[in-house]
Amino acid sequence: MFHFKKTKKSKKTNARVGIIETPRGRIKTPCFMPVATKGALKGASFEEINGFGADIFMVNTFHFFCNERYRDVSRFKGLHNFLNIKYPLITDSGGFQVFSLGSGWDQGTGKIMTAKSNNSHSGLKKINNVKITEKGVIFKSPYNGDKLEMTPEISIKIQEKLGADIIFAFDECTSPFDSYEYHQESLDRTHRWAKRSLDVFKKNNQEMFGIIQGGKFKDLREKSAKFIGSLPFFGFGIGGSFGESFGDSKAGVSQVLDWTIPLLPDLKPRHLLGIGEPDDILESVERGIDSFDCVIPTRWARHGTAMTWKGRANLKSLKFLKSKNPIDKNCFCPVCLNYSASYISHLLKEKEIYGIMLLTKHNLYWILNFMKAIRNSIKNDSFELFKKSFLKQYK
Ligand SMILES: [Zn+2]
Repeated sequence: MFHFKKTKKSKKTNARVGIIETPRGRIKTPCFMPVATKGALKGASFEEINGFGADIFMVNTFHFFCNERYRDVSRFKGLHNFLNIKYPLITDSGGFQVFSLGSGWDQGTGKIMTAKSNNSHSGLKKINNVKITEKGVIFKSPYNGDKLEMTPEISIKIQEKLGADIIFAFDECTSPFDSYEYHQESLDRTHRWAKRSLDVFKKNNQEMFGIIQGGKFKDLREKSAKFIGSLPFFGFGIGGSFGESFGDSKAGVSQVLDWTIPLLPDLKPRHLLGIGEPDDILESVERGIDSFDCVIPTRWARHGTAMTWKGRANLKSLKFLKSKNPIDKNCFCPVCLNYSASYISHLLKEKEIYGIMLLTKHNLYWILNFMKAIRNSIKNDSFELFKKSFLKQYK
């Protein structure tokens, strides 16, 4: 029922188009998976965004775990019934959020670190809210402070109850400020956790992706790609926080892909976790990434930022408030076809929920359409040209 096939490869780069077949539908790759963190797209409906070309949505296991809401979902026999949708879904393992709470958030780490930050550490990690053992992770619930434990077995069990079509193995997401020694120790543990995730996986109408870690260290990334790549996963996720310790954080993402992708099986899909800025997407597709998930389109919308072919635009600025044009003249989403930037700017300034809803819709349409343009360019052997001309105008 699950199958991945490459349908075309770019001649000069590793960019490729393909299809992931799932029992609930086909996913055209390279694709963007909109993130419905707690089961909603923050102001847009699944139907509408599916109509814009989203073949699959991501839901985060972490929140359904912390508040035990997965028990309620389980009574519905899974997220598809609970959310009343029929499209493919993917859940992450919860690992990234668990570690963000303890390590990353303390140090200001996101998926791409920009803030100058501090201390490296080694040995068994015990930072504020998070304690890591061989068995798993003990942390404090951000909801009510309760002590919670997440292990590979628990993560897989909950992801099975949530019932997404594709799930992820449980891993430790390290901080870019962790030492080499710590990364080494953590990676070996993540590899043991990957095996344990597979051991308990019932494979009942679901498939699993393994996750490659190793931070900014070439030998560890290669080791991880070889090891995780040799396990019987359906596909692979490339994880980690990419920090300034790389020098340029964006270049750090590409660097990791250059190290890892050549070592992964060519006939399995590859997902880049949590990265979704248009320029990063182009660099990653060029290196052979097939899918992305990221909160950027919806988060930016809540902050009044629009995605456009010329770069990000702050809709709260006077320029847009005075503009009778759509947000992006080259966008044909229902928002750009029907409303002026001025109207949306006004709604955002007045904190009207509808303003965020409209901008969320535009941003999701924009990025899904961007992915479609990427797929078409690979099919037409013009990906390099598309990338070059896009980056020329994207500021
Ligand atoms: Zn638009």
